[in-house]
Amino acid sequence: MELIDSRAGQVGAFQVRRALPARARRTVGPWCFLDHFGPADVDEDGGLGVAPHPHTGLQTVTWLLEGEVLHRDSLGTEQVIRPGQLNLMTAGCGVSHAEEGTGRYRGPLHGVQLWVALPDATRDAAPAFEHHGDLPVVDLPGVTVTVLVGALASARSPARRDTDHVGAQLEVRGPAVLPLDPAREHAVVALDGGIEVDGRSVRPGQHAYLGVGSSEVRVDGAGGVRALLVGGEPFESPVVMWWNYVARTRDEITEAHRAWTERSDRFGRVASLLPPTDVPPPPWSSSAP
Ligand code: MN
Repeated sequence: MELIDSRAGQVGAFQVRRALPARARRTVGPWCFLDHFGPADVDEDGGLGVAPHPHTGLQTVTWLLEGEVLHRDSLGTEQVIRPGQLNLMTAGCGVSHAEEGTGRYRGPLHGVQLWVALPDATRDAAPAFEHHGDLPVVDLPGVTVTVLVGALASARSPARRDTDHVGAQLEVRGPAVLPLDPAREHAVVALDGGIEVDGRSVRPGQHAYLGVGSSEVRVDGAGGVRALLVGGEPFESPVVMWWNYVARTRDEITEAHRAWTERSDRFGRVASLLPPTDVPPPPWSSSAP
C-alpha cells in the first residue's frame, strides 16, 4: 500500500485537492483524474463557477457530499445534482459543459469530480449523458457502500461503464472489510474525515493506493466518515492528457484544441450565461506562444 498526497489545484471558483493524476500513479484502472472540492460556501449564482469547456475521450463522474450543482451540456442537458446522485457524462469524440449555481441553493458545497478514460472502442463515439438518482446501497458490518459505477459487495450500479471498473462511496462507522477483485488496482480517498486503510491512517488530501493482487481491504473510522473507493484493471494503453482532453497522442489534442478555439460543431454549444473558456495552445504545438 502506498500513501499518496494530493496536489493543490484550482477549478472555477474552487480550490481542489487533486488526487489523480499523481506523479507516482497517473491512473488507477481507467480512472485518470480525481478532484476533491470543498466544503466551501456558495451562493445562488456562483456554485462551482465552471464556464463552458470541452472534453474528449473520457467520462466525467460528479458526486456531491453537500450542496447542489447545475450541469448544462452541449447535448441540451440541464440537470441539477444533489448528494446521493450521480452525473455521468460521456465525452466520446467531443462534448462541452458548464457547472454552475442552481439559482436557488446557498450554502456549503462539497464533492468530487472524476474522469474515466474511455477505451479505444468508444473514445471516438457519440457523446451521452446520464443522471442516476437512485443508486444501490449495501450495508456491511462497519460500512455502508453506495455503488456509483460497477459492482461491489453484491450491489451493481445501473450507470454506463465502458471498461470493467468500480467506483463507490464508503460511509465508515467502524472496522470493516471490503471484498476486492484482485485483477484490479484500487485507491481509497479520504473525503470528510480521516480513516484507516489496511492499518494506516489516511486523511483528506491523501489516498491509499492498493496494487493488483488484493482480494480485500480493511477500513476503519468513526461517525460515518466518508471515503471514495475507485478501481479497475490497469488501463489498456497509456493516456495522453492535457487541459480537458484525454487522448492517445499529442496530435489528437492539438486537433481538439483547434476545434474548440474555432468553435467548431465538434463540441456543440452550451446554454450558459458564462462565456466559453479558452486556454493557450498546448506547449508542443507550432502555434504555442
Ligand atoms: Mn468538465
